[in-house]
Amino acid sequence: MEAIEERNKQLEIDDIKYIWHPFTQMQGYVREKPLIIEEGKGSILRDIYGNEYLDGVSSLWTNVHGHGKEKLDRAIKEQLGKIAHSTLLGLSNVPAIICAKKLIKIAPEGLTRVFYSDNGSTAMEVALKMAFQYHQQSPDGDSGKTKFISFKNDYHGDTIGSVSIGGIDLFHATYKALLFESFKAESPYCYRCAFGKTYSSCDFDCLNQVEELMKSHAHEVAALVIEPLVQGAAGILVHPPGYLKRIRDLCTTCGIIMIADEVAVGFGKTGKMFACEHEGVAPDIMALAKGISGGYLPLAATLTNEKIYEGFLGEYEEFKTFFHGHTYTGNPLACAATIANLEVFEEERTLEKLQGKIEYFKNRLQPFNSLSHVGEVRQCGFMVGIELVADKESKEQFPVRDRIGHHVILEARKRGLIIRPLGDVIILMPPLSITTDEIDRMCDITCESIRVVTEKKKNM
Ligand SMILES: *Cc1c(COP(=O)(O)O)cnc(C)c1O
Repeated sequence: MEAIEERNKQLEIDDIKYIWHPFTQMQGYVREKPLIIEEGKGSILRDIYGNEYLDGVSSLWTNVHGHGKEKLDRAIKEQLGKIAHSTLLGLSNVPAIICAKKLIKIAPEGLTRVFYSDNGSTAMEVALKMAFQYHQQSPDGDSGKTKFISFKNDYHGDTIGSVSIGGIDLFHATYKALLFESFKAESPYCYRCAFGKTYSSCDFDCLNQVEELMKSHAHEVAALVIEPLVQGAAGILVHPPGYLKRIRDLCTTCGIIMIADEVAVGFGKTGKMFACEHEGVAPDIMALAKGISGGYLPLAATLTNEKIYEGFLGEYEEFKTFFHGHTYTGNPLACAATIANLEVFEEERTLEKLQGKIEYFKNRLQPFNSLSHVGEVRQCGFMVGIELVADKESKEQFPVRDRIGHHVILEARKRGLIIRPLGDVIILMPPLSITTDEIDRMCDITCESIRVVTEKKKNM
């Protein structure tokens, strides 16, 4: 027993001493006791002391069928008995082939080719470079088309290319001098409409603006990049129905490649396998990561249509090759996990069963609206954002230094729930396998934590 106490103390010391945590102000982090996870089963995470927590954000939006899912565990172990890694550069491997075929089978119509990488940012870098290079060299391309259109409040990852098309100033503004320019369209963030309109009585001013942008710059724009249906990292901004379809039609009319970033929304999170399916949209290029391997191992894929793929064909000396590839591309263990993930979707009819849970979740979110500091509750399937405001009437935000969102998640942690906020938007995005009892517990704890923090603040 003592040895374990000793080990735990040392781990806490060493975590602070050696690790630089991502998206974390370390000066603050080192003052709080670190929470160190050791095990997980289903929707439950267990820390080094054996304390249990509900995984309310599916381990940063990745986990699908729960932790320790037998079929996925077994698939990885079996693959490990054969080989852990071999390269896709000039060679192939068994799981990578089977996985690619499965992805194409479920992907929106017209996507026929899979290019692997290992995280969402690289999947987007690949998408951008593909669209750009296609126009430089394909007989059907136009070498004057070198730019991109993306949206305010977009998030596509943290590498320089994906930051260039990002639209969250807090994360992206610092690097401005390093980035290539892209045209930024307004985002359909209806709660804080840039045009001062109210959804359903508006004239889709945001769409008119992007249409204008696309039409006037079509000659120089290679691709438009969009997070279909939901802008995740900006705080689960759910787009109005019909928006995505209009964007698809505009891309077609203007001859602009449509890149759908399904890194966050893919693999069931919106209630369908891919968000694009809600509006019957097929993008030209689609980026996948996060849930692809069931939340088990780093894998990403950029899917593209045949036309773009063919733009890269030629004799070796024509140098039309896509000169891009990451060392762990198509890793057999990650592909084995992905195959098993997709098989569970089929065998357990995950998406079918999910529909009832989405409704249940929706009902359980109702009470949040009556909290005095909840401005808006946004839900798209299993993606939920609860925006906290200082004043409901004026929608005024809390001062940044109060870190209201952060305090809420610390309260939730005390009560056995792990969540991570985006500023003052509280995010709930549990594994699809979560039970209704666990949804109850997650919602109760979140509600109580918001109440405790925001109502305490008011009295200060
Ligand atoms: C998380 C995310 C990314 C980046 O993925 P990483 O694996 O963190 O690099 C890209 N796009 C969207 C929409 C995301 O949510």
